[in-house]
Amino acid sequence: MKGVVFPGDGTIVLRDFPEPEPGYGEVVVKIRASGMCGSDLHFYHGAFDFDHAVIQGHEPCGEVYAVGPGVDPARIGERVMIHHYIGCGTCRRCRAGWPQMCETAPGKTMAVHVDGGHAPFALVPESSLLPMPDGLSFEAGAAIGCGTGTAWGAIKRLGSVADTTTVVLGQGPVGLSATMFAASMGARVIAVDVDDRRLAHSAKFGADLVVNSRAQSLTDAVAEFTGGRLADVVLETSGRASDDALAVLGTFGRAVFTGLPGDVRFTTQAVYKKQWTLLTSWTMSSIEQARCAEYVVAHDLPVDELYSHTWTIEQADEAYRWFDKQDAGKGVFLFD
Ligand SMILES: [Zn+2]
Ligand SMILES: [Zn+2]
Repeated sequence: MKGVVFPGDGTIVLRDFPEPEPGYGEVVVKIRASGMCGSDLHFYHGAFDFDHAVIQGHEPCGEVYAVGPGVDPARIGERVMIHHYIGCGTCRRCRAGWPQMCETAPGKTMAVHVDGGHAPFALVPESSLLPMPDGLSFEAGAAIGCGTGTAWGAIKRLGSVADTTTVVLGQGPVGLSATMFAASMGARVIAVDVDDRRLAHSAKFGADLVVNSRAQSLTDAVAEFTGGRLADVVLETSGRASDDALAVLGTFGRAVFTGLPGDVRFTTQAVYKKQWTLLTSWTMSSIEQARCAEYVVAHDLPVDELYSHTWTIEQADEAYRWFDKQDAGKGVFLFD
C-alpha cells in the first residue's frame, strides 16, 4: 500500500509499505477518511521532531478490517474513530483517557512515532478505538480526531462558556470549530482572524461578530460589543495572537491557549488585579473525543462543512502544497 511520508523539507513522498498485520490486542483499520491538520505543516517543514519514516496523518477514521488475537472478530466492519495516542494503558493518565501523558512509558503519537492514517490501512491497539455515533460521517470523525477535538478539549478545560462573550482568535479548522461549539453552547462569539477568506466562514459556524484584526482595532471592537467590559472567555488558536488574547480579556476572564508556538507574555504586576485564569490545552482525552462526537450528532453541527477540499492519496503532493498556503479551509484524504 502507498503511504504519505514527510521528509521534513516541505515535500511529500508516497512510499510503499506492507499491509499491516494485527498482533495481540491490535486491529487493522481500513481508513475511510484521514484529515489534514494544521499541525501537519510543522512536520511538513521539519519544525517539530518526528520519525521521518512513519506514515503521516493523525486524524484517521474508518472501519475495523482485521483483528489480532484477543480482539473480538465481531468488531470487523465496525465504524470507528481513533484516539491517535498510544500509552501503557494502565497508569492513571492512560486510565483517565490521556495516553499522550502516559506516566510509565513515553506516549506514542500516530504520524510522529508510529504510522498514521494517510494510507489505506492503519495498525492500532484496540484500546485506541472509539465508537462512531450513527449519523457521524467518516470526515467528521476524522476532524474530531484532532482539529475539532482540540477546540472541544479547550472548551472543556475552560468549563462553561454559556452566557459569556467569547473571543476566538484564529479561524482555521480549530478556531472555526471553537466558534461552532461556543455558539452552540450559548456564548456570544466574536470570531477574529487577519484573513477575510477565513472570516467568510465564521458567521456560518455561529459567530455573532466577525473582526479582521488587521483592518480594525480588535480591542475597540470587543469593547464596543461588550459595553467596555471586554471578553469573559478567549480561545487563542492561531499561535500568533497571545498579545491580542490578553488585550481583550476582561476582569475575571478565562483564556485558553492551544495555538503553537504561542509566546505568551505578561507581568503579574500589570495584570494581577484582573483576576485572570489562563490555561493551556493539549488536544483532548479519548473520553472527551467520544463525547465530542456525540455532541456533534446531537446538535447536528456542520463539522463536514469545515472541509473545502477532498483528495486521493495519489494527490498528496498537490494537497499539501495547497494546505501550506493557509488560505482557508481544510482538506481530507478519502479512501474507497
Ligand atoms: Zn500509561
Ligand atoms: Zn492535529
